[in-house]
Amino acid sequence: MQISTTSVPPSSQPFWAPALETQNRAAWQQLQFSLLKTHLQHAYANSPYYRASFDAAGVHPDQLQSLDDIRRFPFINKKILRERQMAVPPLGDIVAVPERDIVYIAASSGSTGVPTASPFTAQDFENWMDFEARLFWSSGLRPEDRYCHSLNFSLFVGGPCVLGAQKLGALSIHAGTVPSERLLQILRQFQATAIWTTPSYAWYLGETAQKEGIDLHKDLAVRRIFVAGEPGGSIPETRARLEALWNARIYDYYGLSDIFGACAGMCEERHGLHWAEDHILVEVLNPDGEPVAEGERGELVLTTLKKAARPLIRFRTGDIVSFTTEPCRCGRTSARMLGVHGRLDDMLIIKGVNIFPSDVEEVARKDRDLTGEYRLVVERDRHLDILTVEIERRHGFNGTDEELAARFTRQLKSVTGVTAKVVVLPPNTLPRATHKAKRVEDRRGKVWT
Ligand SMILES: [Zn+2]
Repeated sequence: MQISTTSVPPSSQPFWAPALETQNRAAWQQLQFSLLKTHLQHAYANSPYYRASFDAAGVHPDQLQSLDDIRRFPFINKKILRERQMAVPPLGDIVAVPERDIVYIAASSGSTGVPTASPFTAQDFENWMDFEARLFWSSGLRPEDRYCHSLNFSLFVGGPCVLGAQKLGALSIHAGTVPSERLLQILRQFQATAIWTTPSYAWYLGETAQKEGIDLHKDLAVRRIFVAGEPGGSIPETRARLEALWNARIYDYYGLSDIFGACAGMCEERHGLHWAEDHILVEVLNPDGEPVAEGERGELVLTTLKKAARPLIRFRTGDIVSFTTEPCRCGRTSARMLGVHGRLDDMLIIKGVNIFPSDVEEVARKDRDLTGEYRLVVERDRHLDILTVEIERRHGFNGTDEELAARFTRQLKSVTGVTAKVVVLPPNTLPRATHKAKRVEDRRGKVWT
């Protein structure tokens, strides 16, 4: 693995790749069109799966006349990735290069079935690290920083992202996943200025530090926290509370093992996550497969533009997002995702209204008389879904639970349109998460399967 730092810009320069990052939308589209055309041709010529799938759909890369023509091509999803991998082991026939050209694989955590491998050629890997460096740079990381990476080098795609920080020139501390007490010791000893974790772990780590008598503002030097894996990093209330706890700025990142460790992330303005639009074509679609308007919610569908080892054409992520193409105050012109509102799988429909756990989080984190922890319990009573939201009153709160419940019910109704039964619990009653928090308890049985 060659990590060169020869092309690192001066720290005062706001952009990693100025010409690319600030080009106008027309130039972005032109670049994407030319990359997409080549990529589709590569997929059709070299991947047995895509040749069969395009032929079956009656489409050919030569028919691509504009970016919108991507909608003529068939979708792919996690289930197909898994099936093709099992049909043609070990990597599947979606792969579009000889195995000798593959140098690295990541694999999904496997929480929802057989892990699927995400292969990279040497050039794919280099492209990925260049983007990670560009992303870290846009979030203010510089060669003067000490970056602590508390993710392991394993099959998990988050591991190698530390090499992006290293490429950028930051002093990189490969801490790996270690017990919280040990991690706090490392952060303190080396006075790390930046870390990467999930929002719930950042919260847990901060609370652990306080219990250990560590002053997060004085004893540690962490001023930037990159978070991924949960919606919290884009929920302003969650971010505000984490920032107050740590005296650090929170930057939300988004990635998925089937593409990159992070393929979108927040710049210093922290209003939305800039997409790696020279690597990925983004579609946001309604349930009929039509594009939604800017600011509206739809399913995120991604197409790789350069990843040679295994092209993903119209990959349905199952994530519900919204986006904007308005130029950002930072000067970057790439489209921004305005956060992940939830997973299609997490979406609850209560009396005909869609609601995501992240909607509830927004309300729970805003009320300063609550701890911010919450849980949703969904039950079914004679064909009617009933939502109960459990929240915790803050330690030292002097009012009544009835008053808290009434206020929460009102606020939740105004944010989501849903009326829920609200139960107020004493502080520290709900389980604390050390990784991804489980916020929904579905007691409806197998009614949806
Ligand atoms: Zn920006």
